[in-house]
Amino acid sequence: MKEADRIRVPMREQPVKDRVKNFDSVPLGYSEEEAMAEARRCIQCKDRPCMMRCPVNMKISAMIETIAEGNFKEAYLIAKEDNPIPAISGRVCPQESQCEAVCTMGKKADAINIGKLEAFIGDWAMRNGVTEELHIDEKDKKVAVIGSGPAGISCAVDLRKLGYQVTMFEALHVAGGVLQYGIPAFRLPKDIVDCELSYLLKIGVDVRLNHIVGQNVMLDELRREFDAIFVGTGAGAPRFLNIEGEELMGIYSANEFLIRVNLMKAYDFPEHDTPIVCGARVGVMGAGNVAMDVARCAVRLGAEEVYILYRRTKRESPAREEELRHALEEGVVFVELVNPTRLLGGDDGWVKGIELARMKLGEPDSSGRPRPVMIEGSEFIMELDTVVNALGTVPNRLFLGRTPELETTGWGAIKVDENLMTNIEGVFAGGDSTSGGATVIQALGEGRAAAASIHNYLSGR
Ligand SMILES: Cc1cc2nc3c(=O)[nH]c(=O)nc-3n(C[C@H](O)[C@H](O)[C@H](O)COP(=O)(O)OP(=O)(O)OC[C@H]3O[C@@H](n4cnc5c(N)ncnc54)[C@H](O)[C@@H]3O)c2cc1C
Repeated sequence: MKEADRIRVPMREQPVKDRVKNFDSVPLGYSEEEAMAEARRCIQCKDRPCMMRCPVNMKISAMIETIAEGNFKEAYLIAKEDNPIPAISGRVCPQESQCEAVCTMGKKADAINIGKLEAFIGDWAMRNGVTEELHIDEKDKKVAVIGSGPAGISCAVDLRKLGYQVTMFEALHVAGGVLQYGIPAFRLPKDIVDCELSYLLKIGVDVRLNHIVGQNVMLDELRREFDAIFVGTGAGAPRFLNIEGEELMGIYSANEFLIRVNLMKAYDFPEHDTPIVCGARVGVMGAGNVAMDVARCAVRLGAEEVYILYRRTKRESPAREEELRHALEEGVVFVELVNPTRLLGGDDGWVKGIELARMKLGEPDSSGRPRPVMIEGSEFIMELDTVVNALGTVPNRLFLGRTPELETTGWGAIKVDENLMTNIEGVFAGGDSTSGGATVIQALGEGRAAAASIHNYLSGR
């Protein structure tokens, strides 16, 4: 192997001093020449472990081979066969623990930069107006998809390609779920999300925004109108710690904070109507992608000090490598081995600080990571003006609360069988509403699997 082939073609990024003042994309994307050079590093190994490790089984090596040849249109069409939103998943998938983790090249040198090549090909197709030519054999059966996040998107697309009449119901005024309201634009520009989602309309999915199933329309009504239903309502409800002081002003759940910033554009208040109060010292509880997104938004909102408060160490952080690196480069301080025990407020009802206990790492727990163990009597106070809880979420409750006949687990996830069918005949579910929170690509994979099951179910009727 030539020495030059050992390392990835570097990704150009916005310099730190500029990007901390704006919400524009941090990675600047590969040029055609850079993408071809990176793709040529791929040795096209026979086993294709990258594809096996991809939850939607994207034909990654074929995509890379055609990029190396400069045949970008063909590469895009290959990606699109299994993945309806390559420009999005290329940007947000945890590639380092999936396709890139098993890359044969990665055993001897840098793994191929699969994520950035996937994003390149999605962007290239958008810039050049490339779309698939689909020949849909129309069927008269109707399917309702509840929720327009990644699970709903992939289910709707696959069913529509099979000819079903698909109607998607989305509670919010925009489609996309977490892709729109959660992941900030500096990671996932919203024009990219809008463009990828316009595909739903192009192929004839009837997208009904501002429709809350369980409020504007009930599941029973949908069951009478549709032959099958897919529930992809996600897991956006905050999980509280139930510690003293959690009700103080200046404390946000991560989703509220991110919705204000990303969806309602609070960073541009008063040009946009929604305000956000972000103090000078911000503490973010948690260390996953959500916590990094909050911390990096706080930096851009002008906070002087931003702390990630985590009960394990950086090494165990579940965030994507790139997000963690970017957060640290942008000045976010990672406070390891601490656990919140109490939130402290002033007479005015606003948060003033947090009490943290020091932790040490013990034996591995069920997650395989070392269990954090509290050190008795180690509590200390950290002064903060804003605290954000990014410790995880549970499945959205409104729909489930109004549909008590739908069986759920003890912690509120929808129960499904091996075909992703719920206990209600003809009602299927997938994505975060069944897992309680995972990844974009896993939700896409489950949406596809549910579409295959729905097709099977309806074919037999
Ligand atoms: C801030 C943040 C950052 C993340 N970063 C990453 C990342 O970098 N990489 C990664 O792989 N994953 C990431 N994730 C996780 C990933 O986004 C989710 O796993 C994925 O979006 C789940 O898809 P879904 O379709 O199941 O649900 P969602 O994306 O949550 O979509 C559910 C949709 O259903 C709608 N809905 C809910 N109830 C109703 C109802 N009653 N009627 C109609 N519509 C309803 C919601 O409004 C929403 O649009 C992140 C999550 C968050 C919150």
